[in-house]
Amino acid sequence: MLIVQKYGGTSVGTTERIRNVAARVAKYHAKGDKVVVVVSAMSGVTDNLIRLAKDLMPLPNEREMDVLLATGEQTTIALTAIALHSLGVPAVSLTGAQAGIVTDGVHTKAKIQNITPKKIHDLLNQGNIVIVAGFQGQTLEGQVTTLGRGGSDLTAIALAAALKAGLCQIYTDVDGVYTADPRIVKNAKKLDEISYDEMLELASLGAKVMQSRSVEFAKKFEVIFEVRSSLNENPGTIVKEETRNMEDVVVRGISLDKNQAKLTLVAVPDKPGVAARIFKALGDANVNVDMIVQNISHGSGVPATDLSFTADKPDLLKAQNVIDALKPEIGFGKVLTTENIGKLSIVGVGMKSHTGVAGKMFETLAREGVNIEMISTSEIKISVVVDLAKGEQAMKAVHAAFFG
Ligand code: ADP
Ligand code: ASP
Ligand code: MG
Repeated sequence: MLIVQKYGGTSVGTTERIRNVAARVAKYHAKGDKVVVVVSAMSGVTDNLIRLAKDLMPLPNEREMDVLLATGEQTTIALTAIALHSLGVPAVSLTGAQAGIVTDGVHTKAKIQNITPKKIHDLLNQGNIVIVAGFQGQTLEGQVTTLGRGGSDLTAIALAAALKAGLCQIYTDVDGVYTADPRIVKNAKKLDEISYDEMLELASLGAKVMQSRSVEFAKKFEVIFEVRSSLNENPGTIVKEETRNMEDVVVRGISLDKNQAKLTLVAVPDKPGVAARIFKALGDANVNVDMIVQNISHGSGVPATDLSFTADKPDLLKAQNVIDALKPEIGFGKVLTTENIGKLSIVGVGMKSHTGVAGKMFETLAREGVNIEMISTSEIKISVVVDLAKGEQAMKAVHAAFFG
């Protein structure tokens, strides 16, 4: 069977951990499986590279960032191959480009366009374990690109689809997907299975156990995968289209995103086309905008309104620059920004057919004295923005309300 295994940063965080990964991989190889291993940078390495660049300037060139960040994974593939050689097992490391991963040219957030896995197949057929650098690819013009933070998950899922793998395993530092981040909520429960839609919502709302784009990809290409621990042999969580008794479980999980910032434009002229102009410009700059709230008009003369929205924290400076550039044209007042927000979300497919879920969540927050700054909902989730300092307390209380 062809197996794709992905090991995250903590799982390859030291040479000793890399040795453990090599031993696990070698066991599958010895059974006769063809194994493709995707690895992340050693834990802390990517953050550190970003820090170094930002020491030099606040908004570094994104092409250069990709050249820089791709070095993290390149280190780990070679070390993993060397660890396998030390066990006497044939292994070859490949960068994203060598593995045939072609992306578009949107630096730091590139999308995979296609994968030509011929080289991987050739190396597997010669009896090798193939170690592929996660998180990176190359444009048709030969530029190095990266796939967004946490992007090694995407490399693994995309390779599993392209190689038609029989098994895709995402090895990480917890036993699977839990009802909430087990590092924050101590009595969170591990889920045996979860649907793509629920995993996708949890991931895009801050549960960093899976990169959200990787889950989107898995859903589209029907890649069933397992999230499990690289530190033990416990069974993990299976992620797939349908789960048992899907509609009976009202809330599947809770997430807290601490990586959001809020921008408020004060006294924006309330006339057609203004919101379109603002959000088109942000979109053109590849700023991901999430929640948007517009107040009722106030003032005399030309009516004006306050417009608030959230964006990913790393995009705050870029968003501010875009907004500042629009000021002469649109003519609004002050721009207020804050990074002190947390987005707390509850997710479950069963919410479609159950009522009273929002009421229970809001009541719980009220009892905790947590103020709700923004709200957004979809059929299967409810998100609120709260003060960052109260985020974890709010998450624990809401978890207790729904899961006991
Ligand atoms: P890796 O380096 O293996 O990619 P990450 O750090 O990206 O690992 O993701 C694993 C972490 O995700 C866990 O250590 C955990 O703290 C966090 N996490 C957040 N939400 C959840 C959840 N619902 N279930 C499991 N882990 C979660
Ligand atoms: N090393 C990259 C990051 O830290 C990619 C990954 O770990 O998946 O975001
Ligand atoms: Mg990760």
